[in-house]
Amino acid sequence: MQQSRILVTGGAGFIGSALVRFLIHQTNSIVLNVDKLTYAANLASLDSVADVSRYSFIQADICDQQKMMELFFAFKPEKIIHLAAESHVDRSIDGPSTFIQTNIIGTYNLLEVARQYYSSLPSKKRALFRFHHVSTDEVYGDLSKDDFPFSEAHRYEPSSPYSASKAASDHLVRAWNRTYKLPCSISNCSNNYGPFHFPEKLIPLTIINALHHKAIPVFGDGLQIRDWLFVEEHAEAIYRIVTQGKVGETYNVGGNSERTNIEVVRAICNILDKLKPSKTLGSYKELIQFVTDRPGHDRRYAIDSSKLDNALNWQASVKFEEGLEHTVSWFINNEHWWRPIIDSQDATKRYGVDV
Ligand code: NAD
Repeated sequence: MQQSRILVTGGAGFIGSALVRFLIHQTNSIVLNVDKLTYAANLASLDSVADVSRYSFIQADICDQQKMMELFFAFKPEKIIHLAAESHVDRSIDGPSTFIQTNIIGTYNLLEVARQYYSSLPSKKRALFRFHHVSTDEVYGDLSKDDFPFSEAHRYEPSSPYSASKAASDHLVRAWNRTYKLPCSISNCSNNYGPFHFPEKLIPLTIINALHHKAIPVFGDGLQIRDWLFVEEHAEAIYRIVTQGKVGETYNVGGNSERTNIEVVRAICNILDKLKPSKTLGSYKELIQFVTDRPGHDRRYAIDSSKLDNALNWQASVKFEEGLEHTVSWFINNEHWWRPIIDSQDATKRYGVDV
């Protein structure tokens, strides 16, 4: 297999760290991880690759164009996989400005740097170059219960400052491909879950609150539907798109696992009842508390990933219940990873659950 030089942005985050672990452990790529290390980052998620010579890390802000220029010309990447973003919907409602800055201006900066770098390459190197942008299904807005899942042709109707900023960044990437012929691709993915997930998100928050016998918050009636994808499968899908997908294309990535939030929370409680029964509660489900819904909360997201299946023979294979049990078990056994986050920021108290 040919060795590729891959620059990953946001590689200390949840999906980025899964991608970096995948690239180092399952391919022979040389990886530079560029991450600002915001509250959402955790270098401990990269312990297993930290000493590998094919891996390096630089703390930097994608909005710093000069720094990005230096890094591109020094590292000489063949592929850019761009995941750096502000990603928490409630934080975007509270303070949209960092979302506009990182998700829109940051993506614009990277595209401009990539354009200059690409134009400096000899034609052989140009043929290998790819700028891949990792985006979300939330750009499509929401669906009602009987609507068809989102295809790549679905119109953009973002609801939150987060999804609007991601939608804007998708448009920029398409424009740089069309106008400047920068070889780009985009993937729009559904909700990810798995090990190393930041504790403010629905699944880890539920597990950790339950383990502490704290209330488990569920927004509104809990009937919002999300499609769930095991994060390690997302990493593999991104790699397949970057290496085999077509320039200029968008691919939807989904898990074929639509569940209501309350179903997810109950399933976690059932797994915990089996793996770590409480000494004082009949079931962890007794901790569930319905709380005031988020403004503009989308009801349903669902992804049609048949294009990715037909074009690149990729489909999710981890069953949600199996991936969930693996995740619950990982959180039970890896308190050393999540305890410092809980103690230092208490993010869950400030922002509650994110789905
Ligand atoms: P995350 O919040 O866990 O990680 C984001 C990472 O980006 C962090 O390490 C952070 O330090 C870094 N970062 C933020 N601002 C930066 C900046 N200005 N410069 C450099 N680094 C910066 O996010 P995630 O859940 O891993 O999501 C990664 C990407 O995937 C995002 O673009 C997100 O929109 C997209 N996505 C996420 C999901 C999901 O379910 N989590 C689903 C679909 C798409």
